[in-house]
Amino acid sequence: MALYLKYRPNNFETIVWQEQVKDILKAEVEQDKLSSSYVFFWPRWTGKTSTARILAKAINCTWEWEKPCNKCENCKLIDSWRTLDFVEIDAASNTQVDKIREEIIDKALYPPTNLKKKIYIIDEVHMLSKSAFNALLKIMEEPPAYLNFILATTELHKVPETIISRCEVFNFKRISQDNIILRLEYICKQEWFDYEIDGLKLISKISDGWLRDAIKYLEQVSIIWTITAENVSKFLWIAPERQIKAFLDIVSTNDLNDIFTEIEDLQNKWIDLTNFIKDILSYLDEHLLENTKENLKLINLFDEIYVNIRLFPTPALAYKTIIWNKKIQFTETRNKQEKNTEIPENLKNKEKIKATKQEETTEVVETTKCEDIKNKLISKLNSPIIKWIIKNFWEIDQENWEIVVYIISNTNFQIITKPDNKEILEKEISWLCPNKTIQIKNITKEEYFEKQLSN
Ligand SMILES: [Zn+2]
Repeated sequence: MALYLKYRPNNFETIVWQEQVKDILKAEVEQDKLSSSYVFFWPRWTGKTSTARILAKAINCTWEWEKPCNKCENCKLIDSWRTLDFVEIDAASNTQVDKIREEIIDKALYPPTNLKKKIYIIDEVHMLSKSAFNALLKIMEEPPAYLNFILATTELHKVPETIISRCEVFNFKRISQDNIILRLEYICKQEWFDYEIDGLKLISKISDGWLRDAIKYLEQVSIIWTITAENVSKFLWIAPERQIKAFLDIVSTNDLNDIFTEIEDLQNKWIDLTNFIKDILSYLDEHLLENTKENLKLINLFDEIYVNIRLFPTPALAYKTIIWNKKIQFTETRNKQEKNTEIPENLKNKEKIKATKQEETTEVVETTKCEDIKNKLISKLNSPIIKWIIKNFWEIDQENWEIVVYIISNTNFQIITKPDNKEILEKEISWLCPNKTIQIKNITKEEYFEKQLSN
């Protein structure tokens, strides 16, 4: 038997972390003050359907104490689906649309055949069609004494008010990661699994509040390995926090060779680089306050990769190109800042300072012009990849009055020199600046990097 079924709660006592829901329902059963209809609500899977089934059994259980007993004929009938009086419908499934109309409109009007009461559990009830809701409402307005509805939903606001007003509504709490870890640890001990708490933490994190998924992951990993963080990430193809931190440390060093080697390493480890970006961003978000300035810079960098990753032939190429391009910008900014602070100390002659300042001003004007033309050009182009290449690898060679598009990767070079693309580019540039020529140069990463540093 699958673990998530084995450890699924089967009476009120085993419903964990929904204390309020559990206590009220238990009291209603004991005092025989049950409502005819219930709505169970919470945005995620939190044991709604398990609780619904426990309630269905409690309503029908023939044992005098501690309902449901899970042993009497009625409890067994419900557990084994051997009765037509207990119906579970998933409104999110299209194949069940006909069933809903048929069940609700036709069959609900007849008394139960072998249970005390007929129970309808409708999961994801907000997905019902308007006519199905109307049919449901018609019965709810004057519910037969032998009928109970348990409606479960993740989107309460989509359930008509007329329905909700006729039900007792229960809000289910989201299960916290700590509670999921506790539950997983309990199961590990029961099943004699070898585990480390870090492995359970990681499972709880990736299952994101879904206890059923967490138990499924636990079972999958336990079949092959001891449950450690490393094995969990290996099995589920995700990068553990340690890996993310190591990668970010390398990116912060500014050594492009190391960074590129690490990206290839990650790929060789079969880490999905597209998902890895999301992990990195959520890691940075969680640790933002620890090193705000550096982390904001990194968020900026990885956000650009996240947005543009699909424009590249491979995710690795997106990482490399964007990191490499950003690194140059960082270095440039830093060099400029250093230059600016050094000048007043090193140069005592006021005239010289004046001259330098003038020089800087003209340089700024030229850069602005270049940026201006660049932005105009980008706004006229349609293809996102060409826009991206132009934005990042375009320059005006002022000595020769040439517009130069430096293309670093062969793939990018092939894209931009395609006859169609080249023609569009040349046409737009000739419109924007008639006295300049366009040249497209393919250079290596090292050449480009050296060129940037020498400028
Ligand atoms: Zn029973």
